[in-house]
Amino acid sequence: MAVAHCILNQATRWWNEEKGRDPSKGCLWKVVKRLDELGFGVYQLPCPEITFLGNPRRSMMRGEYESLKGYQEHVKRLSLEASSGIEALINMSRRPRLKLMGLIGLARSPSCAAKGVEPGSYPGGIFFEELLKELKRRGLEPQVIEIDIKDLEASISMLDELVIRSSL
Ligand code: SF4
Repeated sequence: MAVAHCILNQATRWWNEEKGRDPSKGCLWKVVKRLDELGFGVYQLPCPEITFLGNPRRSMMRGEYESLKGYQEHVKRLSLEASSGIEALINMSRRPRLKLMGLIGLARSPSCAAKGVEPGSYPGGIFFEELLKELKRRGLEPQVIEIDIKDLEASISMLDELVIRSSL
């Protein structure tokens, strides 16, 4: 399962003094635990925002990231690198054969939202759109879901549904 970087490393989420609380830390352990229970390994995708703007950074909408000079190119480069990394793991794992079961993004993220990244239903997150396009170009068709940190329990049950869909 390829997951948005901050699922395993919350410290990459946007933060500045005005946020009014301490920076995030740790990982979304409940999600990781459920993935482990379901037998999924985890591939950590890069965080496009911290590797471009760093932290502290302010909260920005998708449109602002789209008009940020160089960001689209940055996201394209990360998509190529991540797709190549995933493809290499699949191609080199003859036994046991690895498979990309899904992409897990973050609800409402301008870069990593996963809802709406399928063609015809844009916009999702800028990075996830590019990544999904690049993976499909290489013949990979992962299922796409997203975690909502405001409703972790519902998000975790979506992981269970993904397993059921995969076994049909
Ligand atoms: S949602 Fe994406 S861009 Fe935002 S912190 Fe997580 S990995 Fe980085």
